[in-house]
Amino acid sequence: MNIHTTIDILDMSKTVAEAERLMTVCNSCRYCEGLCAVFPAMEMRRAFSEGDLNYLANLCHGCGACLPDCQFSPPHEFNVNVPQTLARLRGDTYQAYAWPRALSGLFERNGLAIASIAALSVFLFIAGFVAWNDKASLFRADGGAGAFYRLMPHNAMAGLFIAVTLYVVVAVIMSCRAFWKDIGEPAATLRQPVSLWQAIRDAGTLRYLDGGGVGCVNDDDMPTDRRRLYHHMTFYGFLLCFAATSTATLYHYLLGIEAPYPWYDLPVLLGTAGGIGLVIGPCGLLLAKLRRDPLLLDRPRWGMDVAFIVMLFLTSLTGLLLMIFRASPAMGLLLALHLGVVFSLFFTMPYGKFMHGIYRFLALVRYAKERRELETGH
Ligand code: SF4
Ligand code: SF4
Repeated sequence: MNIHTTIDILDMSKTVAEAERLMTVCNSCRYCEGLCAVFPAMEMRRAFSEGDLNYLANLCHGCGACLPDCQFSPPHEFNVNVPQTLARLRGDTYQAYAWPRALSGLFERNGLAIASIAALSVFLFIAGFVAWNDKASLFRADGGAGAFYRLMPHNAMAGLFIAVTLYVVVAVIMSCRAFWKDIGEPAATLRQPVSLWQAIRDAGTLRYLDGGGVGCVNDDDMPTDRRRLYHHMTFYGFLLCFAATSTATLYHYLLGIEAPYPWYDLPVLLGTAGGIGLVIGPCGLLLAKLRRDPLLLDRPRWGMDVAFIVMLFLTSLTGLLLMIFRASPAMGLLLALHLGVVFSLFFTMPYGKFMHGIYRFLALVRYAKERRELETGH
């Protein structure tokens, strides 16, 4: 074990110990039990194993409400800061569960790692286009059907993205497996339709990002629902973009119609609506993050949070620019830029902030089960 790893483990143990201290204080106080799912889940326990704390950390939505509401928050000597401590612990779990282990280091200096992978991907797409065609083709105006695939054959493009998607699916499943095992939850819970449905509803509406009904705490004592709205725009924008890509694939293979498509076709309409959501949502989230009270943030992981937001923003921005300028000489470069950004976004998904949504959903599944058991007695 090298020195670096030893320091990481000591730091992680310190965070676990602090989370345990806070949950013990909160379990005696219970003032915040109506704010979110974390406090009721905490009240179901008398002692907290590391797995329990990791579960609670991922159940926390980071609304921040329990900081200003707490009579023991800094500068009180008890120094109770639940949002920041759970955010730190959450970040530690992302790295601890990463698969394969060899790539867990991508979580360190995550912003730099993701920016480097994105730059390399864009460069490789440009180099690939030039190698496949000639240098001039990169700047040739070509807006006709199949223009994209004259720069890169459709089968090569589809094969590359199918391969990276399969890799991401396996990496995410393996990471989730590690989380589920760590929190000590049986696999059978994932086969309970009632728990799954409840978690889908809670995640789909971001029920626990409302600070107990008043909204998220930002830079002052005036909570608002803005962060929830921007999260929704980002999430549903992403889903619409995914639907646009899937529809385009069906157009290509089932109907034999090649991109680019006219503005009124389904892939373009879905992509435009999703792209707009994915521009406004990440901008709003970034602004909210910049304005947030530093006491609510996990400062050392600032780069990870910002990198994911920026990658989502760049995905939509380059997609929209490609749609607007697809018949111009800029199309070749914009296509390389867009494909490079999307590829790196996909590839780095298991090693960045994307995972917060996955672990939070799983934590909600467990919480739904626990709540039901408590209410029904079995
Ligand atoms: S955060 Fe503070 S007020 Fe809320 S339950 Fe914990 S100790 Fe009590
Ligand atoms: S930050 Fe919000 S979601 Fe997290 S524990 Fe506090 S009240 Fe609950």
